[in-house]
Amino acid sequence: MTFQNTLEFAQQLDAQDELKNYRKEFIFPQHDGNDVIYFTGNSLGLQPSRTKKHVDEVMNDWANLAVEGHFYAEKPWWDYHERFANPLSKIVGALPTEVSVMNTLTINLHLLMVSFYRPTEKRFKIICEEKAFPSDQYMFQSQVTHHGLDPKETIIEIKRREGEHNIRLEDILAKIEEVGDELALVLFGGVNYYTGQVFDMKSITEAGHKVGAMVGFDLAHAAGNIKLELHDWNVDFAAWCSYKYMNSGPGNASGCFVHERHHHSNLPRFAGWWGHNKERRFKMEPTFDPVHGADGWQVSNLPILSLAPYLASVEMFDEIGMDKLITKRNQITSYLEFILHEIDKEVNSTFEIITPSEPSERACQLSVFLHGEGRSLFDYLMKSGVITDWREPNVIRLAPVPLYSSYEDMYKFGQILKNGILTNQ
Ligand SMILES: *Cc1c(COP(=O)(O)O)cnc(C)c1O
Repeated sequence: MTFQNTLEFAQQLDAQDELKNYRKEFIFPQHDGNDVIYFTGNSLGLQPSRTKKHVDEVMNDWANLAVEGHFYAEKPWWDYHERFANPLSKIVGALPTEVSVMNTLTINLHLLMVSFYRPTEKRFKIICEEKAFPSDQYMFQSQVTHHGLDPKETIIEIKRREGEHNIRLEDILAKIEEVGDELALVLFGGVNYYTGQVFDMKSITEAGHKVGAMVGFDLAHAAGNIKLELHDWNVDFAAWCSYKYMNSGPGNASGCFVHERHHHSNLPRFAGWWGHNKERRFKMEPTFDPVHGADGWQVSNLPILSLAPYLASVEMFDEIGMDKLITKRNQITSYLEFILHEIDKEVNSTFEIITPSEPSERACQLSVFLHGEGRSLFDYLMKSGVITDWREPNVIRLAPVPLYSSYEDMYKFGQILKNGILTNQ
């Protein structure tokens, strides 16, 4: 499609947008009486209006039933999490028994590493991406030292080549092969949080398995954003948070995936009563007998007030389906890219999109490196009702979330950006 940088054209795309009614289901912060232009759904998704109903239901059941709510609530709490199995399995491409909800993301990755990172004298190395999200870096370091190993000899970061912004798949695959039988674990992001680069999880998984390593993914920026086929790709394990593209609210519950082939294995794990055989959970038996499935990694009884907004979210994703979301995501991201290039030409600026331009290597995020304007331009955008974020040294990240962003937002953003650059010059 040939795009145009005009309000009329943007409005025409909105009129044809199959998801346009979902925008009305989200609550936008206000700026001068108008909805803000929200680009940070990759950090904290907006609140869907239907969420409050789900939370109120739990609050009411708690008030009216107290402990009886475990069994007699509108949605009984003791197996509340089972409502996630179907919708969530479709979002990440898994069998219903392969997904579970619990804890928060970094905690889940730690728990999964207990099972899937089993270093031996020969096979102990971990491959991850350079500039992984800091929490992941701290996790790797602390896991490695917990096993009595030296992080410097154990953690191998795949680097970008000199002068390049993104990691090349060939470099990842070559390193996996090179480390070979010393490689215990590959743990990569599905989508890099900084650049928005989407990694080829299928090829990475294949390569890891070929040398006998386990392969897992941190899907914080991937869940609800890209098409995932975790089961078919044979990924061993994965975890994600629900407050980014899945709009479940600040710090909310995480989801995780454990491939079916590990459900009956005797992988070690840190256990708790919620992972115990469901039929006999309340018999208070002394010996742990895990549920065969991702639920077997649950530890504590679940934070229902945290799951309620997450349930509202997965129901919305289930109504729409990932395919429609991805179709709009591709178009609106491309439209934003077009607008950025147009403004760049008009004002002769010096910013650079560091996210891959190849559509299969990106999703809903464009990271823009601001060569000159930097921080003052970012401040101008925020003051003008554009919510974006700033990442050192000079990057703003723009995520036009397909569920609630409009093409008109993209056009208006372009105009604000242009004014900002001109005012700054
Ligand atoms: C957002 C994000 C996290 C956050 O972890 P929490 O445990 O939910 O605080 C971790 N890893 C990545 C890659 C992220 O993008």
